[in-house]
Amino acid sequence: MTIRNIIRMGHPTLREIAKPYAPEDIGSKEFYSLIGDMKDTLEASGGIGLAAPQINVSEQVVIIEVPDSGTRYGDTEALPFTVYINPKISVIEEASAGYWEGCLSIPGMMGYVERPQHIVVDYLSDKGQKESLELKGFLATVFQHELDHLQGNLYIDHIKDLSLFTYENEYHEFHLKED
Ligand code: ZN
Repeated sequence: MTIRNIIRMGHPTLREIAKPYAPEDIGSKEFYSLIGDMKDTLEASGGIGLAAPQINVSEQVVIIEVPDSGTRYGDTEALPFTVYINPKISVIEEASAGYWEGCLSIPGMMGYVERPQHIVVDYLSDKGQKESLELKGFLATVFQHELDHLQGNLYIDHIKDLSLFTYENEYHEFHLKED
């Protein structure tokens, strides 16, 4: 498989609504090629999630893998590598919490974003089966960030206080709170 170029903010594909992925194409050679490229690209980038539009494929496919520890996000619930096709979010509770977010398509920057912290995601698996996943806390934020990419949205669209949109170095110097 191939490490693909990650397109950056300003590329028009990042602002398009991605096409639903044709369920009959799940499991095809092209499907496995896309997933393989996305996996290699995510691994090479050190990120925890990647949406197909970020490699300039405007289709509703997202991969997420959250390691159990040692991320820059601190202690979080782990989530094994999973493919989410045509995912839809339902908010269970509107109560929101804020996290500092970064994005492979906006390298070198961080922003503080508040999002609902209890959601359900309905999606098709890489076997074409209907699945549903309930998420709370940081993982709820991760999914909303990644699925936003399928709607042409970026995390910067949600930043309420632009003084909390910073370069990574300044984030570490001035905003990172020690636990
Ligand atoms: Zn992103």
